[in-house]
Amino acid sequence: MTDKHITLIGAGLVGSLTAVFLAKRGFTVDVYERRPDMRKENISAGRSINLALANRGIHPLEKAGLMDDVWPMLTTMKGRMIHDKTGQCHLQPYGQRPEEVIYSVPRADLNKLCMTAAEQHGNVTIHFNHKCNRVDFENNTVELEDTLTNTVFEKPFTRIIGTDGSASSVREAIHERTSSHNFVEPLGHGYKELTIPRGQQNKFQIEEQALHIWPRGGFMVIALPNKDGSFTVTLFMPNEGPVSFSEINNEQKLKDFFAQEFPDALPLLPNLVEEYFENPTGNLATVRCKPWHYQDKAIIIGDAAHAIVPFHGQGMNCGFEDAWELTQQIDQHGDEWIRIFSNTDSQRYTNGNAIADMAIENYIEMRDSVNDPVFRLKKELSFELEKRWPTLFIPRYSMVMFHRLPYSEAQARGKIQQEILSQLVEDKTQVEQVDFKLAEKLIHDKLSEFVFTH
Ligand SMILES: Cc1cc2nc3c(=O)[nH]c(=O)nc-3n(C[C@H](O)[C@H](O)[C@H](O)COP(=O)(O)OP(=O)(O)OC[C@H]3O[C@@H](n4cnc5c(N)ncnc54)[C@H](O)[C@@H]3O)c2cc1C
Repeated sequence: MTDKHITLIGAGLVGSLTAVFLAKRGFTVDVYERRPDMRKENISAGRSINLALANRGIHPLEKAGLMDDVWPMLTTMKGRMIHDKTGQCHLQPYGQRPEEVIYSVPRADLNKLCMTAAEQHGNVTIHFNHKCNRVDFENNTVELEDTLTNTVFEKPFTRIIGTDGSASSVREAIHERTSSHNFVEPLGHGYKELTIPRGQQNKFQIEEQALHIWPRGGFMVIALPNKDGSFTVTLFMPNEGPVSFSEINNEQKLKDFFAQEFPDALPLLPNLVEEYFENPTGNLATVRCKPWHYQDKAIIIGDAAHAIVPFHGQGMNCGFEDAWELTQQIDQHGDEWIRIFSNTDSQRYTNGNAIADMAIENYIEMRDSVNDPVFRLKKELSFELEKRWPTLFIPRYSMVMFHRLPYSEAQARGKIQQEILSQLVEDKTQVEQVDFKLAEKLIHDKLSEFVFTH
């Protein structure tokens, strides 16, 4: 094992992109992936068929030289299409500039593209059907299991990067050797994927350029468009309780539930019953841990370090930012691995926590607040404040989705902005009634100049 050799565990989205960056820098990389090669076998891509890709994820893909191939995969989503119980819809735009949109991307296609791009460099080998059971930092070996033959063997490593997702084996090994914290916080809510098939002549049956939401307080349905005219639909609801996966447990209850709560979605879901009972119910949890690295030997990034709930559509985007941060540290510090790992850890840790918090808050916003008149007034006002003071006030959603300032800064600024908005809308029902002199004073007093990172 030379210093130019990296062992990478997990060839998911973050692992494959990391392998591309490492390959471009001349590293020899052995990637161990427990699943079969999805380019050869028809396996599910895992959780969520499609994902929201935003600026933070696009930037590293650009740096890896992959965006030319990614653009054709994308479907633009300009805002949230809110469906109320009577079937009425209204669009809440995500931003106020033409470029302030997000994109739906098929997980499997993006993953395959990154894997192929990594392998094309010639110095990356992805060993499929190889599960990492254990990392031994005493002897610098990794215990691997060939899942086709059930053979278990050890491989030496010099440096290891854990991109093995939310149940990371590398995280466990790091935390066995450090007196640190490693928490998995279950949300108590799960999800189920359903499908709105494409319509006649391959047309979309509902507005194509939107992320559709049926918000219902304690639960919700969302739908993201796919290039082929279909939508991937996700039902999010509690695991237990009066409206829950455990309660809605037979065909009649399911049909009654959809007829009552999502009447306009029901006719669009011809396979509702089969999909609900045959598709797995996914679990949702937040992983918070520290440290993310062990000496100069190992680091975890992506969901392995910070699995978050999916309501800000940022898990992958954040993981791609981690991969780019690690790459920049390698570029700056050459073979000073202790610095590379500890800098990446300290740069990304608070950001991982910040987006984890904001993602949980966004669940409440998506399933509930979007229908609230005060929320809508604040949203309209925040666009107006951004128009008037664009270097000082940027709506939090926009800071997270359209800009690349650190998540922790978006969270801190967002908190102050929320206080300002609450003060300004008190007893108001329309933006025209807001005192903009007071707005100017509050914004100048409380918010520093925004540092743009484009
Ligand atoms: C319902 C849902 C919707 C989501 N929507 C969005 C979205 O819209 N936008 C967004 O940015 N993010 C979204 N996310 C989050 C996103 O899916 C994750 O953040 C992203 O997949 C993380 O990538 P990763 O490579 O770190 O981990 P993973 O995608 O989990 O990949 C880990 C890889 O490691 C492999 N592996 C695991 N254990 C081992 C082992 N012991 N040995 C070898 N290999 C192993 C796995 O097979 C897998 O290939 C969503 C998540 C969910 C659940």
